[in-house]
Amino acid sequence: MKEKKQGRVLITGAAGFLGSHLCDRFIQEGFEVVGMDNLITGDLKNIEHLFKLSEFEFYHHDVSKFVYVPGRIDHVLHFASPASPIDYLKIPIQTLKVGSLGTHNLLGFAKAKGARIMVASTSEVYGDPLAHPQNEAYWGNVNPVGPRGVYDEAKRFQEAITMAYHNYHQLDTRIVRIFNTYGPRMRLNDGRALPAFIGQALRGEDLTVFGDGSQTRSFCYVDDLVEGIYRLLFAAYYLPVNIGNPQEITIKEFAEEIIQLTGTSQKIVYCSLPVDDPKQRRPDISKARQLLGWEPQVPRKMGLQATLEYFKTLSKDDLYKTDHRFE
Ligand code: UDP
Repeated sequence: MKEKKQGRVLITGAAGFLGSHLCDRFIQEGFEVVGMDNLITGDLKNIEHLFKLSEFEFYHHDVSKFVYVPGRIDHVLHFASPASPIDYLKIPIQTLKVGSLGTHNLLGFAKAKGARIMVASTSEVYGDPLAHPQNEAYWGNVNPVGPRGVYDEAKRFQEAITMAYHNYHQLDTRIVRIFNTYGPRMRLNDGRALPAFIGQALRGEDLTVFGDGSQTRSFCYVDDLVEGIYRLLFAAYYLPVNIGNPQEITIKEFAEEIIQLTGTSQKIVYCSLPVDDPKQRRPDISKARQLLGWEPQVPRKMGLQATLEYFKTLSKDDLYKTDHRFE
């Protein structure tokens, strides 16, 4: 039998896409997991299979308010945040608060518990990047007052305050810069390219490509991302590390791949490009390769197939449901 690791981990954003996969991984590795989520964008369905386990506990709590969990905590993973551009347009203040006040609370919490903390940063700290591909030394090109500023600047503040706690309080910290990630449990209606395209294909609608579709992204399958995060948490390195898949594709090509994958007879329609939409994005993962011996293993074709299978298990209601939660 695999040796079980000891420890109790707090995962914020536990009911979300990445958070729920992290809960699964840490349980598998033998940890006790405390999940926390305010369920604004998360969904209990993503973790309902964990509720029967004695190693899992859940707190329905907003981390932008004081965080309290009794008992020992060895590691904190702060993954709570809206993560899709339309979410941060709809809930800009919560987005700012969870990245700033939430991070502050969790850093204080980790300090009080003597725990290591990892914060989930993002490729959005690079904004609409002028350097390509993006390595960790690039400072970014962010519009602070644009619609994406609430997310980008909250995450930049998050990195700054995490470094301050590291330097001033000698807190044991990790910063992961996450690039576009996809897989089962993404919200079908979260507005991001992959769920949007798959949802449209399954409903028999045309696929909405924004702009002329020449902007690029690099999509990482969630299992690869979780592996990189897991390795980084246990590596002795406190500066930011990019985790993502360097295989770059234009959004038009991506839509064409989804058309082929789903076998839909629908076509691409072109819509206006959102304000400040980054023109290109590809991680330089040299640091993760060298430090963690990590690189993505799942080819896009396989990852997309697994994601499509997941979306096919959703009910008709889910497929046609519009998200009125923030309206
Ligand atoms: N996009 C698109 N059609 C959609 C949704 C998104 O063309 O229905 C584009 C979007 O403008 C961006 C890219 O796909 O250029 C990735 O968008 P997403 O929201 O997934 O994430 P981002 O990387 O922009 O945060």
